[in-house]
Amino acid sequence: MMEHPVEWLSAYLDDEIDEKTRIQVRDHLESCESCAETLRELAEIQALTASFYGAIEPPPELEQSVRQAIGRKLPPRAWFRSALALALADAVCLAMVWQLFGGLVWILWKSAYKISIAAAYLVSDGIGSSPSLYAWAVGLALILIFLSGISLRRLLRSETE
Ligand SMILES: [Zn+2]
Repeated sequence: MMEHPVEWLSAYLDDEIDEKTRIQVRDHLESCESCAETLRELAEIQALTASFYGAIEPPPELEQSVRQAIGRKLPPRAWFRSALALALADAVCLAMVWQLFGGLVWILWKSAYKISIAAAYLVSDGIGSSPSLYAWAVGLALILIFLSGISLRRLLRSETE
């Protein structure tokens, strides 16, 4: 005689087990009141569940309202998804470009950095060595600050108006 075949009872009820196991379960049920009781409970639950779902009748307008809701929501979501796909494609392209030309870009970037440093040294050296140039640079900087101040005030005024 097999142990209490509790794990087989549901399958037995639905007739979803092989013949040999089905016979073993049936023989066990004939001599075990506990398992027979469990089987009756299972059958009751199944019947209840079936009647419950059978009683649920979707309202006739449900399908239409779902379709309408999907229709309304689809454009922004589609837009968002395509934007996301585009961003992803961009990222992939960038990664591929970086994979292919990363070394070259890095070398270019480093040399550009070196050139700009050298240029900055040259310019500051030239300005520092000549007092009149230095005065011009300071004057230019002051004029730029003055002009940016004016444009900022104008911007703020136009913002408040
Ligand atoms: Zn049993």
